[in-house]
Amino acid sequence: AEPLSRKPGWLKVQLPNGGKYQDMKNNVRKNRLATVCEESMCPNIGECWSAGTATIMLMGSVCTRACRFCAVDTGNPNGWLDKDEPQNAADAVAATGLKYVVLTSVDRDDLKDGGAQHYADCVKAIIQASPKINVEVLTPDFKGCFDSLEVVLDSGIVVFAQNLETVKRLTRRVRDPRASYETTMSLLEHAKKYRPDILTKTSLMLGLGETDEEILETMKELRAINLDIVTFGQYLRPTPNHLPVERYVPPADFDRYREWGLELGFREVVSGPFVRSSYRAERALEGNNAG
Ligand code: SF4
Ligand code: SF4
Repeated sequence: AEPLSRKPGWLKVQLPNGGKYQDMKNNVRKNRLATVCEESMCPNIGECWSAGTATIMLMGSVCTRACRFCAVDTGNPNGWLDKDEPQNAADAVAATGLKYVVLTSVDRDDLKDGGAQHYADCVKAIIQASPKINVEVLTPDFKGCFDSLEVVLDSGIVVFAQNLETVKRLTRRVRDPRASYETTMSLLEHAKKYRPDILTKTSLMLGLGETDEEILETMKELRAINLDIVTFGQYLRPTPNHLPVERYVPPADFDRYREWGLELGFREVVSGPFVRSSYRAERALEGNNAG
């Protein structure tokens, strides 16, 4: 048998429980809030929801791109947008009582601005309905367009995230050919220059064949553009049609990458087998080096 077909013990999931989690779950149900947390069966749901953090997907479930690690359907939504989404999302988020919300989406290369204005409308509606909430966005790359990026940056967000997904050498293999390492870097760099008050963040999946040297090199490049937060998690193959897992990264290695990152001066490095871009996202706002 293929040695990597069996997951190591540290990737066993614990079922969430606890009062706060249960309250949030009831609220989410009652207000019909569609979360990535539930739809992706995210293993962190107990922790995140107990802290009042959740992730919502905007602009539908069909992506114009086809990354080789991602299970989202590829297609062409032909400019479709739900004009009611900003208000509906705002109402559901307010009714649920979230303290921190992460907005993300499929890539929408069919829209002229990549969906930037729609993101901004959603952020503004959410803040209007929940004035104390903190909003983070994890956006598409807007084909590298700074004008689109600035529309999102000026909407009221506290964290801007755009994912590198992997190290430079593996980008062609892992991401859709329209995405690039350089484009993601340039968006993150511009975001920090344009709005130094907004935290910038990026995530990499590990276990795709990257080396320690490449991880370190990537972190150095990210520090050079003043990136605030980096996260590392284990890549898991969603179906046999997706890229295979090259390595299950042991927890001790994740800890080491975090130490390297903190030495390099990141505000926060979140690193562990189950870490997702949005894992305990509110913690980085609480100050330095929170767990
Ligand atoms: Fe998946 Fe995002 Fe790639 Fe689309 S752009 S295929 S949603 S990772
Ligand atoms: Fe939701 Fe992200 Fe937390 Fe998973 S890591 S439960 S998707 S907020």
